[in-house]
Amino acid sequence: MINLILFGPPGAGKGTQAKKLADRHNLMHISTGDILRNEIAQSTPLGLKVKDIMDRGELVSDAILIEILRSVIEKHKDVNGFIFDGFPRTVPQAEALEDMMRQEGQKIAAVISLEVNEEELIKRLLNRALELGRSDDTEEVIKNRLSVYTNQTSVLKQFYTEKGLVHIVNGIGSIDDIFSVLVGITSKLN
Ligand code: AMP
Repeated sequence: MINLILFGPPGAGKGTQAKKLADRHNLMHISTGDILRNEIAQSTPLGLKVKDIMDRGELVSDAILIEILRSVIEKHKDVNGFIFDGFPRTVPQAEALEDMMRQEGQKIAAVISLEVNEEELIKRLLNRALELGRSDDTEEVIKNRLSVYTNQTSVLKQFYTEKGLVHIVNGIGSIDDIFSVLVGITSKLN
């Protein structure tokens, strides 16, 4: 079983690359943003609770995220491994993930940090707004999401560097070129 974290700011390409890597290595792609958007689309109690928070570009509470992860991991004990995309975003989430993995006799094999400068991120997110119409891809909310990333999530790079798990990858380039770099890294893991 290989468990990977795709790490990086909004717009770095985590979702795109996570899907391709999941296909390549037969792993389960877990995007917490997609899970939450799905709850909103279905107007579940959870969806109603998180909608305003997400529309502002703030983080949903650790308790909610940890519960979502716990239930996904519980339900999929038979997979080859997980690719976490958009999770963890805080130190308590990262610690909870470690505990959950440990309880399953598993661990995180690598944290891939996709690195893209802020100017390019804003450009990509504004483009995505035109293509997908995501309600949190407006210019004001994009800026807020990037500052939330800087203030609350970016510390995780250090957290995982101390564990020797981080692989830094330049996230600027063609999707296929970046994917080749990721396959080079992930094919060597076990
Ligand atoms: P994403 O699709 O990963 O950019 O996530 C979209 C939004 O979902 C974020 O701006 C947060 O409001 C919420 N979200 C997704 N994952 C998390 C997480 N791990 N912790 C807190 N909030 C999250």
